[in-house]
Amino acid sequence: MATLSLDALSKTYPNGFKALHGIDLAINDGELIVVVGPSGCGKSTLLRMLAGLESISGGELAIDGRRVNDLEPAERDIAMVFQNYALYPHMSVADNMGYALKNRGVPKAERRRKVEETARLIGLEALLDRRPRQLSGGQRQRVAMGRAIVREPKVFLFDEPLSNLDAKLRVQMRIEIRRLQKRLGVTAVYVTHDQVEAMTLADRLVVMNGGHIEQVGTPMHLYERPASRFVAGFIGSPAMNFLDARRADGALALPCGTRIATSHEVHDDAVCLGIRPEHLSRVSEADDTTLTTRVELVEPLGADTLAHVRLDGQEEPLVARLDGVQPVAEGDTLYLRPDASRLHLFDLDTGRRLD
Ligand code: ATP
Repeated sequence: MATLSLDALSKTYPNGFKALHGIDLAINDGELIVVVGPSGCGKSTLLRMLAGLESISGGELAIDGRRVNDLEPAERDIAMVFQNYALYPHMSVADNMGYALKNRGVPKAERRRKVEETARLIGLEALLDRRPRQLSGGQRQRVAMGRAIVREPKVFLFDEPLSNLDAKLRVQMRIEIRRLQKRLGVTAVYVTHDQVEAMTLADRLVVMNGGHIEQVGTPMHLYERPASRFVAGFIGSPAMNFLDARRADGALALPCGTRIATSHEVHDDAVCLGIRPEHLSRVSEADDTTLTTRVELVEPLGADTLAHVRLDGQEEPLVARLDGVQPVAEGDTLYLRPDASRLHLFDLDTGRRLD
């Protein structure tokens, strides 16, 4: 059990590139933190600094209140699970799992007992004598997890551990990781590109952008109240739609003539209006609260239908998530009404949330 405290952590690589600019984050005991952000935002750098695989240029890292900046990886009581598993090919599953214990000088019988106990926990009992090449991708991933669990670390770090698995297995393993992490009560930091994985796994999400943290919060908080246009566009799938609007006379006015009544405090100025695809609903007739759009592409998903539509004069297409199977085809005219209670307003220049 452990808390992690990151205080103004920064990283400058030897070539002078500043990859992280003062990261502040307090991670609670037993919490699963998921770090997301676009490629190059510094996720792996951060994780590697926590693990001790990358030096810390500035700030302080503490585990359970103890400064660990200068401790070697092995002294930090942290286990890392990588996407490429990093298993030893010539060793059996049992030996792979027990390797760290052997290095620590744990006697053979105790090693065996711990490995078997962990194998039972994650469903690997029948595979202990196999070599990694005799395993499926999912089984290898499980061995990599088992190897981390056996060490009983205070903190687990996951670097995109599921990215080599197929879609179905990813979902299974994701559920398994969440279940195991809660059952073991370990603190964990998990890095991923996959925002569905992030939303479903995280106790709290950290959204990074360009070496800094944009927002930290529960997945639902980030979905409902994104602090910036960047977070709004990153969390939620398909992504939020953005439109130019003016706030005037108690309403939001769009260039196409649509007016949306709003409880937001209204001044006469230009804003960026965000509407999630699921907050656009189809109506049969146009009025001054609807958007008249032309359908460019339809994606029937069964439970719902994604309509990619074009609004006159708008460069970016919009996406609407419509309930169930919809009788709609490319070229159709579609009238969409935004849900006025679920709008998001952002400053046009800074991208910050306005309410
Ligand atoms: P991805 O999702 O693509 O893995 P990431 O968010 O994990 O990206 P990092 O790997 O942490 O990003 O890299 C952050 C930034 O630091 C990038 O711009 C990268 O080019 C740079 N960087 C990473 N390693 C080094 C290095 N050894 N020297 C100089 N710059 C580096």
